[in-house]
Amino acid sequence: MNATTQALLDLQVLEFAKETRNRIRRRRERACRAVARLRRRIPIQVLREYDTRKRRFGSNSLVPVEGDICSGCRVALSRRTLHDSSVRPTECEHCARLLYNPTRRRRLRLEIYGVPMPLELAG
Ligand SMILES: [Zn+2]
Repeated sequence: MNATTQALLDLQVLEFAKETRNRIRRRRERACRAVARLRRRIPIQVLREYDTRKRRFGSNSLVPVEGDICSGCRVALSRRTLHDSSVRPTECEHCARLLYNPTRRRRLRLEIYGVPMPLELAG
């Protein structure tokens, strides 16, 4: 048996081993439950705004303000947007991503969730 055949055989055993498949399934189920838990904690209107942007911006739908610019499109923001993004997710007037101001994050967390942001989202 050559090296490729052996590797392929090992791969097949690994991918179809009951234990591995169960472990993968459990991990996926845990991730799904965590997503559901977080979505229940976010107001429906905010979720809608996020979900709408997800199709276009993917994992960059909610981005931080850096200095006074949007870290998504790198364009300077108005004073109003800078202020609003420090208290709630706010639309960037240039690219339409959602913005948050990380320098005042604790306050933002309290506005969104009513409690500090869960550890898995913080940092
Ligand atoms: Zn932007």
